[in-house]
Amino acid sequence: MSGGMSAARVGLGVGSLGASADRADVVIVGAGIVGLSAALAAVDAGAEVVVVERSAEAQGASVRNFGHLAATPQAGLAARLAARSAEIWQRLEQDAGLWVRRSGTHVVARHLDELRVLEDFAASRAQAGAAADVRLYDAAEFLQQVPISAADVVGGAWLPRDLQVNPRQALGAVTAYLERRGVEFRRRTTVTGLRSGFVDTSRGVIAAGLTVVAVNHDIDTLLPELAERAVVRRCALDMVRVRAELAMPMPAPLLTGWSLLRYAGFADSPAIPALRERLQQDHPGLASLDVNLMATQLPDGSIILGDTHSRGEAVSPFQSEHAFDELLRAGSTLFGTRLDVLERWQGVYATAPEELLIDEPTPGVRVVAATTGIGMTTGPALGELAVAEHLGPTFSPAQPTSIRAASAHLQKGLS
Ligand SMILES: Cc1cc2nc3c(=O)[nH]c(=O)nc-3n(C[C@H](O)[C@H](O)[C@H](O)COP(=O)(O)OP(=O)(O)OC[C@H]3O[C@@H](n4cnc5c(N)ncnc54)[C@H](O)[C@@H]3O)c2cc1C
Repeated sequence: MSGGMSAARVGLGVGSLGASADRADVVIVGAGIVGLSAALAAVDAGAEVVVVERSAEAQGASVRNFGHLAATPQAGLAARLAARSAEIWQRLEQDAGLWVRRSGTHVVARHLDELRVLEDFAASRAQAGAAADVRLYDAAEFLQQVPISAADVVGGAWLPRDLQVNPRQALGAVTAYLERRGVEFRRRTTVTGLRSGFVDTSRGVIAAGLTVVAVNHDIDTLLPELAERAVVRRCALDMVRVRAELAMPMPAPLLTGWSLLRYAGFADSPAIPALRERLQQDHPGLASLDVNLMATQLPDGSIILGDTHSRGEAVSPFQSEHAFDELLRAGSTLFGTRLDVLERWQGVYATAPEELLIDEPTPGVRVVAATTGIGMTTGPALGELAVAEHLGPTFSPAQPTSIRAASAHLQKGLS
């Protein structure tokens, strides 16, 4: 390997493997957005980087999602990571040719309890000195901008800071960019074991100065004890891509009242319990599927619509047509038009009581995962965080916190 960080500088200690042994300053396990972001931070700091990906092409959660970078409704550490991630995404727009839309997020209120949550959120952002984060609209103003059915709309909000990417384009573009920067990808190669300084793979051992594990829900098979300690389970989601005749293009990702129950940033509103109860009473079918009704429009005009949630140590791969019926009926009511299904798929992500998993189970082996559906929003900074301390002074001062501080923060519990 040439250039970059020398073995001595990162303390590889791999002499026993001999001159022909595989080695790298930083080995990343998993080529999803979190792993790629760790690779980006490492290569930026001059490290030699190998990414090990078990598939021929990464097709995990990072390509199956909405592409909604919802920084505004995050709280605690996730909010700080989301803010830093937005910077990284915009840098990748320039460097890697990503499609990044400065769209903000629209949130529709179709009941007064939903509007109340949005008003509480706007007030709390204003109190925090960030009034510009939330713009409230009455029904007429909202409907002028968002192509949905007017039925039941009582108002809405726009969160101008949020961004949108096309997940189907983003991962490939970042991968290609990293390859141009000299990052080596070992595809169709599975990591089977992790030790301090060594990564066991289905194609042999790689000596590593630092290993970053970014395997999302597969942490439960690769590091089962850590997964059990952090109470990591799997969450499976039903998703569709549809075509619909809309009055105008969607200017931004669209959240609904269901979404207000999801994000930590809305959780402090005193109106949340009543909203939850009312949604459960009025829509038992959607509630039983744990639906978060939301949509994003891709550059080709088609719309990603979702999603249901089903959690467990194992999740069923069999997607029920009933769930799709419920989702499509709700989507059709929302948009006030027929939806023609183009594709259906299942996404899976790690879920746990904490929103983020940051750990170092063995010295030099760092594990990072979003353990709820916010990995596109927080993943770039989470990957960066995983290599931050290791790469030391070359690292950007914009980094919110070190991995140890972040772990300690998480252990104490996020406010
Ligand atoms: C349907 C859906 C919608 C979502 N919508 C959003 C959204 O709009 N906004 C948002 O912020 N977040 C969203 N999320 C969450 C977000 O997509 C994920 O949190 C994020 O993509 C996780 O990235 P990752 O790199 O950790 O995991 P992944 O993208 O799943 O990548 C992990 C990679 O690790 C590889 N791997 C696993 N085990 C091994 C091994 N032993 N050896 C080698 N390689 C291995 C896998 O093959 C995979 O490629 C959504 C998720 C889903 C499923």
